[in-house]
Amino acid sequence: MSLLSSLSVADYAVQALAGRCEVCRSWSRDRLCTACRTEFAAPMPRCRRCALPLPRSEPSCGECLRKAFSFTHCVTVADYAHPWDRLITRLKFNGRAELAVALASVLDQAVTRAMLVDDTLPSPALLLPVPLSESRLCERGYNQAWELARHLARTRGLAARPDLLLRWRDTAHQTHLNLAERERNLRQAFVADPRRAHRHQLRGRERRVDGGRAHRARRDVRGL
Ligand SMILES: [Zn+2]
Ligand SMILES: [Zn+2]
Repeated sequence: MSLLSSLSVADYAVQALAGRCEVCRSWSRDRLCTACRTEFAAPMPRCRRCALPLPRSEPSCGECLRKAFSFTHCVTVADYAHPWDRLITRLKFNGRAELAVALASVLDQAVTRAMLVDDTLPSPALLLPVPLSESRLCERGYNQAWELARHLARTRGLAARPDLLLRWRDTAHQTHLNLAERERNLRQAFVADPRRAHRHQLRGRERRVDGGRAHRARRDVRGL
């Protein structure tokens, strides 16, 4: 699958050389300057299941202690608020695929921090991006989750595959849905490609990078 087919190399080069922070517009070698990373992606204790901020470092909040989860650890960069909401909107809806480089770099920092805090956390065997439907992929020209996964994989020296997880059906936009509605919206939306999944041991470890979608995808993979 050529996910970058609609993006020209020249577009990428211009964006890469522009030299301004995407948030504060100060001159910066990266799309996110060090000051903005420090201010907006400051580490804090969080529940490793639901990402809720906690007063001190604990593996899980009280609510999640009583629930069963299909994943072992949620790595969180920051709340979905300024400036991340705008950056992710640009990445997803404004054709700004090059922002995935900076966002993957912030995600990489969060993964590194999580592994330092919890030295039992295993390194993932494989990164699987949440797939888009064919119609949305055609409309957008790329899958933002794959853009993040491939940059993160390259940085951390991991394998990543965009073709092992399939989107079984199209789903409504999640933007205005609450948590329960999102869960219903994604029910049975993903399936592991049975022609390939068994060769990659998809029942094994994985790293969660995208909230409830990965939870749902993980449950559907385990259901095979
Ligand atoms: Zn900045
Ligand atoms: Zn929790």
